[in-house]
This record gives sequence, structure tokens and C-alpha cells, in this order.
Amino acid sequence: RQAQYRRLRTKPSITKDGVDITLQMNAGLLVDLPHLSEAGAAGVGLFRTELQFMVASSFPRMGEQKAQYQQVLEAAGGKAVTFRSLDIGGDKVLPYLRSIQEENPAMGWRALRLGLDRPGLLRTQIRALLTAAVGRELKLMFPMVVEVDEFLKARNLVEKELAHLKRHGHAVPESIRLGVMIEVPSLLFQLDELMTHVDFVSVGSNDLFQFFCAADRGNTRVANRFDSLNISFLRALRQIVLAGQANHVPVTLCGELAGRPLEAMALIALGYRDLSMSPASLGPVKAMVRTLDASRLSARILPRLEPGHSDTDIRALLKRFASEM
Ligand code: PEP
Ligand code: MG
Repeated sequence: RQAQYRRLRTKPSITKDGVDITLQMNAGLLVDLPHLSEAGAAGVGLFRTELQFMVASSFPRMGEQKAQYQQVLEAAGGKAVTFRSLDIGGDKVLPYLRSIQEENPAMGWRALRLGLDRPGLLRTQIRALLTAAVGRELKLMFPMVVEVDEFLKARNLVEKELAHLKRHGHAVPESIRLGVMIEVPSLLFQLDELMTHVDFVSVGSNDLFQFFCAADRGNTRVANRFDSLNISFLRALRQIVLAGQANHVPVTLCGELAGRPLEAMALIALGYRDLSMSPASLGPVKAMVRTLDASRLSARILPRLEPGHSDTDIRALLKRFASEM
């Protein structure tokens, strides 16, 4: 198996019926970067910047952050890296950040909420990213966005930092693309508004599923209680793809869902064309992609998502389909 996956490394990620599927990898530390070429990923679809903060004993200074981002971009060569702004708080505790006890940390003062309330922190990170990506494209997305206005506020911080750097004669990135992670269900009902403002979106299916089904992703009693391919979640994922297509906004999915072949199959059937996953999943997912007839699968799955269908066990259907591949 391992040898088979290694041979796939340089093979194109394209379905049997000719659909290109971009496979990217998730990373969080510099040591992850060699996997880019080893596993044959097209880019880094999610760089979890909080990892540097979690392994440090105090807040990394602007220069340290910048150095890390520079090294990441350098290691990625010409491949694109999508940075995610700090997603601390919740279960990602920083010993040096004084925080209050929260009863529901996953729904608490975390991620962009913390960043908008402590703009100095977020602006420092943004400045580090802007100066690290001089001469190339900077791709940055924000986690745990609940309403479009939060994105506008975050974008405003980027614009302020950019203006500051230019005013002082510093070089800046060649281009900047800003995106939002879709991981809170409220965004599902603002998709068109959201799409008019962002350059791209990325579905954080781990959190989106957790909040969609009200099932704590870290609680083994409930984490697997509901099928990640349940019909209402699939409908939600489909809505995101459709809104992306209608508004010409690129859509990626970077949660664990993307890294499991059967689930990735479902995503492709829904119309997803860009998936980001842990490096170890790239081989198995690419092997699946290369044997998949995407349009035939879509034709089987999509009608099942319409109301009134009695057989809603999509997982069983996918398994049958896979066994015939
Ligand atoms: C997600 O929520 O799906 C995601 C990719 O982010 P994280 O797992 O870091 O919360
Ligand atoms: Mg998340």
C-alpha cells in the first residue's frame, strides 16, 4: 500500500471521467513542510498558525512570527500556502495567556473573537504575515466567523496594516487574498452576502459538524454518534458549493472529512474540487480519485438529497458504489 501511494505522488489527481481534483495538505509547523513534495500535495490548504504559539513559552514576537512564515513560504517553493489567523482559545490553551474559566470553551472566547477583542495581537500577526510574503501572494483566512461583519472588521485590520507598511516605505505582498472558514452554521444562511466580500472560503468541517449536530468533536461519547454523511449535513455542504459557484468564489474543504476516502468521494459528488487534508491521507484519497467516475456518482447522490426520498443512507450508497469501482 505505502509503496503504491508513493508511486501516485507524481501522478495527476484527476478522476476517471477527467475532473481535476486539487489535493492540498494541512500543516502547522515547519517540520510538516517536507510532506508537500513527499506526499505530492498541490499546496498547503490550511496552515494552523496557532501551533507556533502553543509550543512557545511566551507570545512569539512579531519577528519570530515573521521568520516562521518566511520559512514556511520558502519551504513551499512556488506552491500556495493558506494561512489561518490564530485559532487559540477553547481547547487550544496558551499557558501565558490569562483567560477566564469557560463552561463551553468551544463556543467561548476563541479564534477571531479573541483577535477582534485584542486587535494588537491580531495586527501583530497580520504584520508578520504581510512582511513575510513580500513579493508573492498572501492567502489568509479567519476562523470561527459567525457574521459577515466580523470578516469586514478583520479585513479592515489587514488594510490598516498594509497602509502602515506602505506609508513607511516597506515592501508588501504582490497580492493579498482574504478568506473565511465556514465552521459555524449561521454562515450557511448568509452565504451569498459572504461570497460578495471574500476572495475564497474554506469549510472547516470539524467545527461545522460539531456545531451543526451539537456534538462535541472531542467527546468520544458523542463525536461519532451522528453520521458525518447525514443527509442534512450533506445538504448544507452542497449549499456552500452552489453559493461558491454562483458567486465565482473558490471553495475548499480542510476538515478531517476531506482525508477519508469515502467521505472525500461524497464531497466530490457534491461538487467539491479542492480538498485539504493531513499528509498521510493524500495517498489514499488520490488513489480513490483516480478510480472515480465523478459525474456518475453525482448523478446517483444528488437526487437523493432532494426532499421526499425515502432512502437517505448515503453512506451505504457510497460503499456500494465504491465496491463496484
Ligand atoms: C475544522 O474545524 O474543520 C478545521 C479545519 O480547523 P481545526 O480542526 O483546526 O479546528
Ligand atoms: Mg476549526
